[in-house]
Amino acid sequence: MHFPSLFKSLSSLLRPRQALRCPICMCTANTFLTFGIHPRPNSMCPSCRSLERHRLLWLYLEQCTDFFSARLSVLEVAPQKYMQDTFCKLKNLHYQSVDLSSPIAMLKMDLTNLQIPGDSYDCVLCSHVLEHIPDDREAMREIFRVMKPGGWAIIQGPVDHSRMETYEDFSIVSPQEREKHFGQCDHVRLYGRDFTDRLRGAGFVLELNRFAQTLNPRIVKCCALTTKEILYICRKPLTAGH
Ligand SMILES: [Zn+2]
Repeated sequence: MHFPSLFKSLSSLLRPRQALRCPICMCTANTFLTFGIHPRPNSMCPSCRSLERHRLLWLYLEQCTDFFSARLSVLEVAPQKYMQDTFCKLKNLHYQSVDLSSPIAMLKMDLTNLQIPGDSYDCVLCSHVLEHIPDDREAMREIFRVMKPGGWAIIQGPVDHSRMETYEDFSIVSPQEREKHFGQCDHVRLYGRDFTDRLRGAGFVLELNRFAQTLNPRIVKCCALTTKEILYICRKPLTAGH
């Protein structure tokens, strides 16, 4: 799906010289903030606090979906404040957010046990959440359950593409050990390329979308994106047999 005429063109994001522009809040700055356990320069927008993965998701929604124009019921897991505030103002969306502990989440629920009827949402956004959840397969099944047939989810997560199999060991519980083994103190595993098998196991029809690699390198640089991030587009078939 492409609806480029409805949105600002990508070229309008380009700035002269080395300036950066956030495609979400449209702020311009010479540098963004450094962020991360392994500090990444220019990763966080100083205005809306978005990270690379948020900006990529936003651009994908804008350029490749009807998210900003179609009437959609949307569930965002672990909302980012600026994006939630923006989505709430969009008249075409019926937007809800969910998280067990986030103070800004509209629904306080466990993703492995959503108190939400099945077939409720056209779209689910879930960015960098599953690596925190011990029973991630149950969380994936719950996302699948609450989606309408024909609905789509965009799931993002840190995946080590050099690794075939996901590494998890539930005897590793201390924050220091988790950081050492899984890359962050509150991650419970390190996903490998078999992340896709887990998603398919929940029932999804999967598309691995390398949207960032399709963008003009000048856009990637200007919006401070990373090209290695994959968007996992997860569709719920219209019927059980597809
Ligand atoms: Zn911003």
